[in-house]
Amino acid sequence: MDDRLNFAPCGYLSLDDEGIVLTINETLLRLLGYHIQEVQGQHINIILTSASQSFYQLYFFPMIRIQHKVEEMYISLKSKAEQDIPVLLNALRNERDGRMFNDCICVPMKQRYKYEQALLAIKKKMDARNQLKKKQIAELDLLRHELESKQNELLELNEKLRKLSITDGLTGLKNRRCLEEKLTSHLPLHTERTQPLSLLLIDIDYFKEINDRYGHMVGDKVLQVLGKLLKDESRADDIAARYGGEEFALILPNTAKSEALNIAERIRSHVENAKWDVPHITISIGVATSLSGDTEHALQSRADRALYASKDGGRNQVTHANVLHE
Ligand code: GH3
Ligand code: MG
Ligand code: MG
Repeated sequence: MDDRLNFAPCGYLSLDDEGIVLTINETLLRLLGYHIQEVQGQHINIILTSASQSFYQLYFFPMIRIQHKVEEMYISLKSKAEQDIPVLLNALRNERDGRMFNDCICVPMKQRYKYEQALLAIKKKMDARNQLKKKQIAELDLLRHELESKQNELLELNEKLRKLSITDGLTGLKNRRCLEEKLTSHLPLHTERTQPLSLLLIDIDYFKEINDRYGHMVGDKVLQVLGKLLKDESRADDIAARYGGEEFALILPNTAKSEALNIAERIRSHVENAKWDVPHITISIGVATSLSGDTEHALQSRADRALYASKDGGRNQVTHANVLHE
């Protein structure tokens, strides 16, 4: 072989159609770490990695036979020390003296390979990071959902607690605290607009006897039944409450004295004539109607005095506080 080709700055080898190495230059032998005797006459597979052997069979060989040339094929050679040597391979199929030669040159692509490997490694890292990020986002989403549902639970619980704190446990009516709050908030509106508000205080007559005769449980049942009656009798804006013990109250917004008396009388009569499956009871009612500049305390004590007047008058009756003043 001509020295210029033998020591050219690229590898050179020539193959026959069976893939046998016919010639190989010194540059390529040095790159692979072989002596010429070890390669010449051998199949090309000896200097190919196993992946490249398949590549050679599937692509290189058919292509050179059909197109008579192969251009810029990346392939990995295998050195004697079993190291991969990536190369760029160009080949031409030439006829010399009636015989076909597949002449190949290859240029080591070590640097390019390194860059590619580095890029691949970076891409792998980025992919892993993206995966991690996606996982973390999914976890955060899950946590956010959990937090939202816990917050909702807390809101629901708060709402339940709020309702409990203003509800009488036995009758389900509003409790005294709530009643007094409502009076405080409603009263100024009514006295300012000169729309009167009336308050009914209702007390069961001789309730102690019911407890004594039938027992406390039956007494409780009576309180529940009366609570339901008051709820049923009240209008949408009215507020029925258990005032304490066997006493109840009804706030009647926008209700003047005569209407309040009618309502009180209707309730008293309903209770007196009720046909329910608890012991028969009667109730006494005291009514008071707001005056200009009134306070809830003054209103309550007027209703209370009216209630006492109903008791004093023989019970099972309705008294309006105004009667006491007249
Ligand atoms: P009056 O006609 O003067 O109102 O007589 P009264 O017996 O109804 O009044 P008194 O104040 O003497 O007794 C009220 C009774 O109400 C005594 C108490 O045991 C009973 N009571 C209070 N709270 C409850 C309750 O939650 N359940 C039951 N079963 N009884 C109660
Ligand atoms: Mg009482
Ligand atoms: Mg009583």
